[in-house]
Amino acid sequence: MKVTNAEIVISAVSPKQYPNDRLPEIALAGRSNVGKSSFINKLIQRKNLARTSSKPGKTQTLNFYKINDMFYFVDVPGYGYAKVSKTEREKWGIMMEEYFAMRDTLRACVMITDIRHEPTSDDVTMYNFLKHYELPVIIIATKLDKVTKGKRAKHIKQTYQGLSIEAGDALIPFSAETGEGKEDAWQAIKQFI
Ligand code: GDP
Repeated sequence: MKVTNAEIVISAVSPKQYPNDRLPEIALAGRSNVGKSSFINKLIQRKNLARTSSKPGKTQTLNFYKINDMFYFVDVPGYGYAKVSKTEREKWGIMMEEYFAMRDTLRACVMITDIRHEPTSDDVTMYNFLKHYELPVIIIATKLDKVTKGKRAKHIKQTYQGLSIEAGDALIPFSAETGEGKEDAWQAIKQFI
């Protein structure tokens, strides 16, 4: 997809701030520092619309990026950062529930994992949380450039098995460095918008 317009519309902390123009939404979830911002920026071809390596501990928000006046990418706060207080973690949980349980314009979730490593228990919890809401999930296994070609298949299998990915959910190997997987990612996303 050619992105001609991408803008942040709101960083929301509560549902009353969500946009009300009823455009379809694609959520983006992932462990802190997994490469979520790099994924968004690569897809929309902006150097830094989504802030990379945003510091955990700062205000957690749902960032609504309007793309081509056609749909929203909704960047949800990263999970799995060890040094987060209990209060922060609880706030995060409430924010996620409020959004994923109620949002009827939400069509699918892109979940970013690191192709180098076994999915963490937090990744598994996140995937199950999304499937609990019967949401289609597109797994983007990023940092593909860090895995040698000969080992790709092994790492893909590891992600498949680690998350117990359901039939119907796509797994797309991706690199924000090389752009590999970008077209496949767009193809998968386009089905839902
Ligand atoms: P976020 O916290 O999930 O938004 O993660 P970032 O997008 O800020 O990425 C975290 C770190 O991983 C940064 O240093 C990025 O440059 C790096 N990174 C992200 N994607 C890739 C990738 O595909 N390949 C490589 N080699 N590094 C990446």
